[in-house]
Amino acid sequence: MTADTRITLVRGDITRQSVDAVVNAANSSLLGGGGVDGAIHRRGGPEILAACRALRASHYGRGLPTGQAVATTAGRLDARWVIHTVGPVFDPHEDRSGLLASCHRESLRVADELGARTVAFPAISTGVYRWPVEDAARIAVETVRATATQVEEVRFVLFDDRAHEAFAARVR
Ligand code: ADP
Repeated sequence: MTADTRITLVRGDITRQSVDAVVNAANSSLLGGGGVDGAIHRRGGPEILAACRALRASHYGRGLPTGQAVATTAGRLDARWVIHTVGPVFDPHEDRSGLLASCHRESLRVADELGARTVAFPAISTGVYRWPVEDAARIAVETVRATATQVEEVRFVLFDDRAHEAFAARVR
């Protein structure tokens, strides 16, 4: 981040945020899934899935690699773009934290390319991908703080109290 970047925390639903860009905890197929991904496609409507299918056809026939990020329209969400990023599945036998950091860094890089100034992130990898939320919060906040970006507000949107507390402990 820069001196002008603020990290804010909200307990709530990422699909209800008014921001320039919403980050999706996608899976590599880009064709939707559960959790954040399902919620974004449900509320954002079919335009997002159509854009994802087009991206698959043009660039990501083998799927979007873990740790990378790519943008589409935000459909009917109150945002201009969705930035899809694929978090790593937690593995207690392998350190994949570099990939989780990469999700945050790459999402901010895409946000800068788009000119997004406000970006909402979910707690990537902490749902179906089972990453312990206290550790994910540390990686997410450290990475945002270490990344040079024009984004003015990085808003972490946490679905439950535990995730909110984990992020609050890192942002304080
Ligand atoms: P992943 O596959 O990367 O683990 P998930 O979508 O399964 O992603 O979960 C990521 C986190 O997002 C979890 O902590 C989950 O509780 C939370 N979550 C699920 N739905 C929403 C939502 N609508 N808004 C914000 N966070 C959500």
